[in-house]
Amino acid sequence: MSALREVAPGVRVIALETPTLPPATHTNTYVLGEREVILVEPASPRRREQGRLLDALFDAGLEVRAIVLTHHHLDHIGAVERLVAELRVPVWAHAETAERVPFAVDRALVEGEQLDDDRGRAWRVLHTPGHAPGHVCLRDDEATLIAGDMVAGVGTILIEPSEGSMARYLASLTRLSTEAALLLPAHGDPLPHAPRVLEHYVAHRLARESKVRDALRAHGPSELAALVPLVYADAPPTVWPIAALSLEAHLVKLIDDGDVVHDGPRYALL
Ligand SMILES: [Zn+2]
Repeated sequence: MSALREVAPGVRVIALETPTLPPATHTNTYVLGEREVILVEPASPRRREQGRLLDALFDAGLEVRAIVLTHHHLDHIGAVERLVAELRVPVWAHAETAERVPFAVDRALVEGEQLDDDRGRAWRVLHTPGHAPGHVCLRDDEATLIAGDMVAGVGTILIEPSEGSMARYLASLTRLSTEAALLLPAHGDPLPHAPRVLEHYVAHRLARESKVRDALRAHGPSELAALVPLVYADAPPTVWPIAALSLEAHLVKLIDDGDVVHDGPRYALL
């Protein structure tokens, strides 16, 4: 049996173990096309996992035409250098991703351009910043979306304030909700009913944002560390260090929206 599993017509997947954000343990590598394929994010830095990917490609008789990256995070790019060295294939990614990876990107992907697979299927590049500045998705004519880290079939998507942007992430989710039918995320199983899933993601973030407002209203000017247990009372304390990053991303958005001010270490509602 092939290690590659078909998840949509002309789209196969193999999940490789990666150092990713728990509870996720794997990152999906998608294979687009029939024989001369486009490989979307060969992710794992682990040699054994890279070997599994190479074996799977070889066993299926596939040649890799190009590697596409959805974004620059370590759990999405781990096998790229080895594949480039062994298969001599070009790497395609958004310019903002190219700036952030430790290897050369051969082609800068831009919003709206079309990548044709060897079945004649057109994959449209959608620039969807927010989780990462250079994040892209690929969408075919049937609205199947290679979704990267816009959504997750397992675990959550972290918006990290140093490079991520909650406002841009929400705008990208909203945009995708009119463009996708089936979501193929980097972590976990395919997610059908894309508009519903994406609307749920937006609603979930906005609900969290109103918890931030409520906490500031109830407690007055507060430091980030004091807000975490109030805003994430529904989450176990073990996730609070990660939640603090997400909370900061919400606060940055609220400041940009003109709803919150940052006074020294404390945040206050306007
Ligand atoms: Zn990521």
